[in-house]
Amino acid sequence: MSNWLSRPDDVDALVARWRAEHPDLLTVESRRQYTGRDVWALTVTGPGVGESRSGVLCFKPHAHEPAPIAAQMNVLCQLLTGRTLAGDPTSLPRDQWLAEAVICFLPDANPTGTAAAPVEAWDGSQYTNEEFWTWMRGVDPDTGLMWKRVDLWDDTREENLPLRCGIVYEQVSEHEYVEPNRHHRSTLMGWLRELRARRHWDRMLDLHQTEFVGSTHNAMVILPTLYNDQPEPLRVIEQRWAEALIAAWNDVPGARPIPEFAPLGYTGQERQYFVNTFGDIYADTAILTSEVQNNSLLTPPPVQQQLCEAAIVATLTDVLSARARVAPDSGAVL
Ligand SMILES: [Zn+2]
Repeated sequence: MSNWLSRPDDVDALVARWRAEHPDLLTVESRRQYTGRDVWALTVTGPGVGESRSGVLCFKPHAHEPAPIAAQMNVLCQLLTGRTLAGDPTSLPRDQWLAEAVICFLPDANPTGTAAAPVEAWDGSQYTNEEFWTWMRGVDPDTGLMWKRVDLWDDTREENLPLRCGIVYEQVSEHEYVEPNRHHRSTLMGWLRELRARRHWDRMLDLHQTEFVGSTHNAMVILPTLYNDQPEPLRVIEQRWAEALIAAWNDVPGARPIPEFAPLGYTGQERQYFVNTFGDIYADTAILTSEVQNNSLLTPPPVQQQLCEAAIVATLTDVLSARARVAPDSGAVL
């Protein structure tokens, strides 16, 4: 068995097995998509009271970006079993993480979309980027190219319906579809609201992939759209965490991360989508986006997965080292 596992049916089967075998470490919860598939929230922590532990929330919004699924499932496997999905002993500081952190994974926020993809991993050998993008957003009936990007669309109101529905969209009613991280009615945003109501998350890692067209790089970290409006303590955390993430990538064979990082550079309507969905999160939570190359011969799927895993590991390492720096009686948690 390899370390890669991302098909929704395979994820569901493994979740069912872990739920039966590791009830002491794993809490399994679902919000169900309109189309019937489970969007899992998989929370792992050691025995005992978790409220004082550091909270880390990892999530993956986009169905055409499967490496973050494989990465989260492999990290989770190591935390639960002490071994990778391939059966190798873990190198993670498992006992420390289980004792000091509550880690919640949303490995796949749109499994219906993931299940509709024509491949398990996008390795760049079967689809050009133009073809890949038509799988992502659908086929425009006029041009044959990628359909448009919107937060919500209604198939009774569109004049130019896509010839094939893009897998990035999540159907939320008989006629309506949303992009998971751009509209509050997605299952993803429902989960984030619910999880934020339960506890404070010290780090939120938003895992993505993109094509890096015309670039020699294959990984980058992005600060929040509203970074410049965030409270100073959050910006300090995000700066240090972003540097740690890039340093971790530099240790991965095949990694070519962009050494600099900046706030997400969207403007206009695209920026407004993020203000609408993530504005309250930016106000009180340290959150970074990681992007790893997708659909390119230059970054084979095992490297895509390792880069995503390195981002998760660097996040845990960062939050727990910050915890260790806090004086025991100060009450302040960075
Ligand atoms: Zn994405």
